[in-house]
Amino acid sequence: MSDSNTEPPNPAMPHPSPEEITRKLEDFIKNSLGGQVIFSRVEPHDLATPAESVEDDESPVIDVPAAAFDFRYKPADIKAYLDRFVIRQDEAKKVLATAVCDHYNHARMLREHKQQKGAAALEFSKQNVVISGPTGVGKTYLVKHIADLIGVPFVKADATKFSETGYVGGDVDDLVRDLVAKANGNVELAQHGIIYLDEIDKLATGGEGRVGRDVSGRGVQTALLKLMEETEVALYAPNDIRSQMQMMFDTRKGRTGREVVNTRNILFIVSGAFSGIEKIIEKRQSKASIGFGAAMHDKPAPEDLLRQARTKDFIDYGFEAEFVGRLPVRVFCEALTSDDLFQIMKNSEGSLIRQYEREFHAYGVRAVFEDDALRAVAVTAAEEKTGARGLVTAWEKVLRDFKFELPSLGVPYLIVDGELVKDTAKALERCRLDSHSLHTDVRADEVRLFATRFASDYGLALVFDSGAIRSLVQRAECEGSAIDVMCARLFKDFPFGLQLISRSSAQTVFHLTREAAEEPEKYLSDLVVNSYRQPKIFSTESHGS
Ligand code: ADP
Repeated sequence: MSDSNTEPPNPAMPHPSPEEITRKLEDFIKNSLGGQVIFSRVEPHDLATPAESVEDDESPVIDVPAAAFDFRYKPADIKAYLDRFVIRQDEAKKVLATAVCDHYNHARMLREHKQQKGAAALEFSKQNVVISGPTGVGKTYLVKHIADLIGVPFVKADATKFSETGYVGGDVDDLVRDLVAKANGNVELAQHGIIYLDEIDKLATGGEGRVGRDVSGRGVQTALLKLMEETEVALYAPNDIRSQMQMMFDTRKGRTGREVVNTRNILFIVSGAFSGIEKIIEKRQSKASIGFGAAMHDKPAPEDLLRQARTKDFIDYGFEAEFVGRLPVRVFCEALTSDDLFQIMKNSEGSLIRQYEREFHAYGVRAVFEDDALRAVAVTAAEEKTGARGLVTAWEKVLRDFKFELPSLGVPYLIVDGELVKDTAKALERCRLDSHSLHTDVRADEVRLFATRFASDYGLALVFDSGAIRSLVQRAECEGSAIDVMCARLFKDFPFGLQLISRSSAQTVFHLTREAAEEPEKYLSDLVVNSYRQPKIFSTESHGS
């Protein structure tokens, strides 16, 4: 049945573009529903692929069959894997490995248990983790590698993202939808993913003695609380047009299935620097020690204090008690010394140095990094106080000019040693000189090759001395010519002229000096004239005039 209100398509009217359709749809929905609807630009190709991650794209989309997620690791296996990439942080590795195993073993047992009819529910408190520690020391790196090893999707976001814009209920749920996207639409796998929230300390509202964030921080804590516990998140965000269009697209493609994601088996790991919490811990400890009449000890280092953080300290810092309660596993990542940074470059499988080697190799340059260079850069990087991130900054400064110039210099190697790090300008000049003599050598060989060809074509030997070779190479460089082309031009009369001489004098070998190379025509005409003047002595050799 046709709708009488629907006008038939007008063939004279051009088809609206996808952008036009989206704009009109947006206007329509905005007018009907007001400003509560979030729009994100929809590109046609987005509709064919899962949505991107909220924050960064560190973990790739996992291409897996829809089979249920299986977990068979032991804590020591996970730690051994992490040891290959992450230097130090032994305590964090152990604690994380154990929490991850507990979490996923429980999820597996739960699945097996559910299959037994009439079995009583299994009790389990989730092992969500809070990692405290300074920036750039491997917190994200640890979690990312765990997710890689066990094959679960991993999403990372900054907690500040949710408080900055003010609290919008749907935002934190996006984290769960992003897990589905990372799992390539596999909801079962996404339900076993890892959500990692950095800068969680920024959600603390004004705690003891501190000016904290506004009320939005508390709102985000509450929203996260629900996710961390257990809730169902709509697969398609009801108030995001992009998500709704994705649903339309999936439905059209016949990809209909579960429309909610359960968060029970999602592991939450949060982290932050928690600067200032050590004062709270110290205060608590000093109160207790006065109370028990204990002697005053030396002031502990902030790192040691952080290790002793308790639930109450986090609450005093500005977190909701329920929120801290959902994060039972707490671990501390240590600051990295310059020696640790050296070890990261030398021994981590993910070392930045391998990346630089590959970058130079792309231009045919074999870069060799010596230990004294690594040590010098480690010291500079440690001064930045940004953990291993300082390495990128320090190396960028050292290698900047080499990365720019070496691809064009054509040198086949670069030795990155302590001298180079100390004086990059001098080392670069050395590379330029190497490149020059390398090219000069190659060009000198080309001059000799020209003489070899001349001998085989005409049966006469041209012997260029070192002065002649240098002069020809310099001339070719000035002119920007190829040696063989230039020599063919300079010595174009030589075959005829020298054959004449050879016939009259039987001379077959001709030595050319710098003067001869600079004025080949004069050299040849002098030779010809002399050969007719001189009595015929049938010498086979002649030195240039
Ligand atoms: P954060 O602690 O702020 O989360 P990241 O884990 O993101 O820091 O570290 C940034 C980068 O520095 C990592 O991608 C990794 O290359 C390197 N890195 C940091 N810490 C370590 C470490 N302990 N061992 C090896 N590499 C590290």
